[in-house]
Amino acid sequence: MQTILQKTYLWLFVGNIAFEDHNAYRKLLLVNVLLLITSVTLLSFALLSALSFDNALIASIDFLAGFLALYAYLDLRFSQNIDKSINIGVATLFIFFLGLAYTQHNNDFILIWTIFFPIFVMTLKGHKEGIIITLVFYSILFFVVYQGIGSWQNGAWNFQSFIRFAIASLILTYIIYVKESALNQLIQKEHSALNELKRLSITDSLTGLFNRRYINKKLELEINLAIQNTTPLSLAILDIDNFKEINDQYGHNHGDYVLQEVSDLLRLHLPQEELLARWGGEEFLIIFPNQSIETAMQLCNEIREKIIHHRCDTPINITASFGVAEYKIGNEHNAFIARADNALYQAKKSGRNQVCRYDEVPHNQTRLFDEQPN
Ligand code: GH3
Ligand code: MG
Ligand code: MG
Repeated sequence: MQTILQKTYLWLFVGNIAFEDHNAYRKLLLVNVLLLITSVTLLSFALLSALSFDNALIASIDFLAGFLALYAYLDLRFSQNIDKSINIGVATLFIFFLGLAYTQHNNDFILIWTIFFPIFVMTLKGHKEGIIITLVFYSILFFVVYQGIGSWQNGAWNFQSFIRFAIASLILTYIIYVKESALNQLIQKEHSALNELKRLSITDSLTGLFNRRYINKKLELEINLAIQNTTPLSLAILDIDNFKEINDQYGHNHGDYVLQEVSDLLRLHLPQEELLARWGGEEFLIIFPNQSIETAMQLCNEIREKIIHHRCDTPINITASFGVAEYKIGNEHNAFIARADNALYQAKKSGRNQVCRYDEVPHNQTRLFDEQPN
């Protein structure tokens, strides 16, 4: 259960904005914190200065920067454009801190506030772009504060103060740069590891084709599309004939090799590779979006011919049987596969090395679909 405090925190700093990953969340949180704190602080300062009428200039600067930060904060909620808000936030801080240094000199040690600039900029804009903006910012700032040597703070701001301020600012900048670039490398590594995991989770390791889990999801999507657009959708299951004999005569490794050869052949001859998967053992599943059963039959027959003529370094000719079905409204996913499976059963029964369609399977010869685990 979220406490009220947690809920308020999320409402203020995350809101309804979508984020993709860990890093996007970090950025979102930081930009919201930056904008909200900047706007509340500066608008309060502006109000105080305005009420006491002691410094109209600083009140105006505070008000302008506070207003810009508030605008960027609210805009993020509505436009969901995080980059726009980051740019407004960074530009606001850039002008605000320079304006502050220029007008207030180092009274009340006001320059200390500038340390927030590299922190926010490099975190929000990334270390590469961030370091350039930071260095431009410091070049101008150092130029401004250098001019104040001997005169600011009734002469207390001297050359040593300037050097101390410059060195501290640059060390801080360097530390944040190193931290951000290390984090960036880590995130990149995490991304590629995650992508590799994703790829592995949907791929069959022997053939490199998609696996059963992936094609099941894909089929679900294709069925929904076919229903939405009232377009045809066909499906084929291919099973290599007498595969057990190949294993028995030439060994399991050769069987594996044949499976890889057939997979390559399918990949090569099918127009949409992403709709092809190893369904299990020596069976493959092919989805034909927007295709009637006639076109799917024709494509399967072409593939069947290619398999016959393909040499797999064995005296035995490799052949395959196909079961094809077309989607009918009302069929759910499993029933659709069961229809192709029934047609395949018919192809095997009729002597193998052929393509059978479900709607020609005699009804008394259909068998119950033996549902396999996904
Ligand atoms: P049918 O024409 O009726 O399909 O006969 P079949 O011999 O192809 O079918 P069966 O189901 O009797 O045998 C399939 C064989 O496929 C049995 C199994 O050992 C083998 N097999 C399943 N997966 C693999 C694999 O990854 N590599 C190898 N080499 N063999 C496999
Ligand atoms: Mg089989
Ligand atoms: Mg077989």
